Amino acid sequence: MKNYFEKKTRFSNFFCVAGTPIAHSKSPVIHTLFGEGVNLELTYEKVEVSSGCLGVAIEQFKKAGGIGMNVTVPLKEEAFDIADDQSDRAIKAGAANTLCFKDGRIVADNTDGSGIVRDLKLNNSITLEGKTILILGAGGAAKGIIPALIKENPFSIKVSNRTISRAEALVEFTKDYPLEVLEWGKKLSYRPDIVINATSLSLSNDLPAIGSQTIGPGSVVYDMAYTVGPTNFMRFSESLGATQILDGLGMLVEQAAEAFFLWHGIFPDTSSIIEYLRNENSSNA
Ligand code: NDP
Repeated sequence: MKNYFEKKTRFSNFFCVAGTPIAHSKSPVIHTLFGEGVNLELTYEKVEVSSGCLGVAIEQFKKAGGIGMNVTVPLKEEAFDIADDQSDRAIKAGAANTLCFKDGRIVADNTDGSGIVRDLKLNNSITLEGKTILILGAGGAAKGIIPALIKENPFSIKVSNRTISRAEALVEFTKDYPLEVLEWGKKLSYRPDIVINATSLSLSNDLPAIGSQTIGPGSVVYDMAYTVGPTNFMRFSESLGATQILDGLGMLVEQAAEAFFLWHGIFPDTSSIIEYLRNENSSNA
């Protein structure tokens, strides 16, 4: 059996993020900066855990004094299943990104949805109510954000995914809301107000299959990927004249802030951390 926390003694305020791959994760930096901002000492590590191994990693983490864990690809559904209790947000997403270990129980939550909504509304003054939204992708990220977007009372949400059955499964999942499925690459007869790229295509700088008429002046384009410099999709949107073009860095920090609040009961300042990471990105570009 792999020992995930081999050389660790017990820490008093110990957190981690688990997933594969994990080397690129910014969560340790973000949580450490949050802690510094509120004078809270904590240890936050990243640990590579593969599918099927989360239960073992959790047991070892608890023995090492761990009190809270973030999980990322590919463990979000596994984390949801392992938990003893799940928040309403996690149940609606069918996946968890934050685990709290309390009174011997594992409690799962999902902060991805409120992360993107906070970034759109608070950091970028974008109204969601009454808007037409197109989501590209139907993987874990799409699943995590749709319940939070629905709560904002948009006019409509359409989902387009390469594997159409995955988009159709999302419709089943949100049966109390009329989510619509659009065939991958199929043209829309109107231009949606907000286009969210929730595919992993930007990680390889590939473009989703959408017609150029989908984006134009007035469009808000949100690429959930957070890369150094704009993605090809962001550049493509710019060439079509989109009004606001955003990457996923703000969401990353906001979902982390929600997790920090769950663990520590304090909501940290996010704007200074987003700015810090953006400056770091531009100096690495
Ligand atoms: P998943 O692996 O669960 O889903 C990947 C999605 O991308 C699926 O919809 C898949 O379609 C689609 N896709 C992959 N390759 C192609 C392709 N060649 N052509 C068309 N579609 C493709 O990943 P996640 O949902 O977890 O993550 C998606 C993105 O969101 C990533 O960029 C990730 O970094 C980002 N993310 C950002 C967060 C943030 O805080 N900013 C938080 C979480 C995720 P199909 O079903 O057909 O395979």
